[in-house]
Amino acid sequence: MPSFTNPNNLSIVTGVPPSVHGICGNYFWDREAGAEVMMNDVRYLRAPTILAALAQRGTKVAVITAKDKLRSLLGHGLSGIRFSSEKADEVSVAENGIGDALSLAGMAVPSVYSAELSEFVFAAGVALMERERPDVMYLSTTDYVQHKHAPGTPAANAFTSMIDRYLGRLDAMGATVVVTADHGMNAKTDAFGRPNIVFLQDLLDEWYGAGTTRVILPITDPYVVHHGALGSFATVYLATDRLMDAAVRIKSLPGIGLVLTRDEACHRFELPPDRVGDLVVVSERLSVIGTSRGRHDLSGLDAPLRSHGGLSEQQVPLLANRRAAELPYRRWRNFDAFDLALNHLDA
Ligand SMILES: [Zn+2]
Repeated sequence: MPSFTNPNNLSIVTGVPPSVHGICGNYFWDREAGAEVMMNDVRYLRAPTILAALAQRGTKVAVITAKDKLRSLLGHGLSGIRFSSEKADEVSVAENGIGDALSLAGMAVPSVYSAELSEFVFAAGVALMERERPDVMYLSTTDYVQHKHAPGTPAANAFTSMIDRYLGRLDAMGATVVVTADHGMNAKTDAFGRPNIVFLQDLLDEWYGAGTTRVILPITDPYVVHHGALGSFATVYLATDRLMDAAVRIKSLPGIGLVLTRDEACHRFELPPDRVGDLVVVSERLSVIGTSRGRHDLSGLDAPLRSHGGLSEQQVPLLANRRAAELPYRRWRNFDAFDLALNHLDA
């Protein structure tokens, strides 16, 4: 938690929760600077990655992501192959450890909003496994398809089949494959397919006056067309004397599942206290949290809203193509993926 892309991808590659690696969303409020700060930059990362450590010890490592911003975070300190499908036409040996990402994948550079952006990751990954045989490879897709298409629909099935084909090829080459997710996904709509949105900043402005509180949505990123920057997790900055009153009021709103103080949230979700607001608000499965009505452009939503960020999207699969060695009782999580792959599977 929050069930967003960057916190979970960083947990997977560092093997630790956000309380240690520091990345708990795309934005936080910097009280000293008095500004909303984008956190998807390596200077906010507080832990080295397993990938970089493996590379330093002479392991041949490759990282391919869909979006380039995630590549810069995951590839931090890494000497090895690292590139994104988004910028596959701009790679160089000096910057990316490879000079021919496009011809490797045999695909054109895909649109940022497409299934192909993720397919490119797998096409390049399989080709790389054939040609360079890296010891460890990390492939990370985007959730564009899952945001737009519910499980069982033709587009969702086609996407899953595509992944299955490429995983089958990696398996056939003898690779140990571990598959997990950064988060789940749910419809966030009513029975008519209309989005269920709690515009939290509007309500706080009404209760306490404009400019006295601040709602931060850590899902916000430069690519918002498919979810309108609406997710199931928000953090609120407000004056201490209003804390409990606000918590009670927010908790009573339809669609809100959980309101925690900073301490409670950081303890329960293993978050870094200096990057979390005074309250953490989590919506129920079918609802999302917005700031102000006017700040969300929903015109790009050409399909009923599907999103994530909450507890309802926390559970994810953890799969392997090898039998697990006898395991003591353990609560396995997505960020145990490297431990599972490297230490607990039959050869
Ligand atoms: Zn998403």
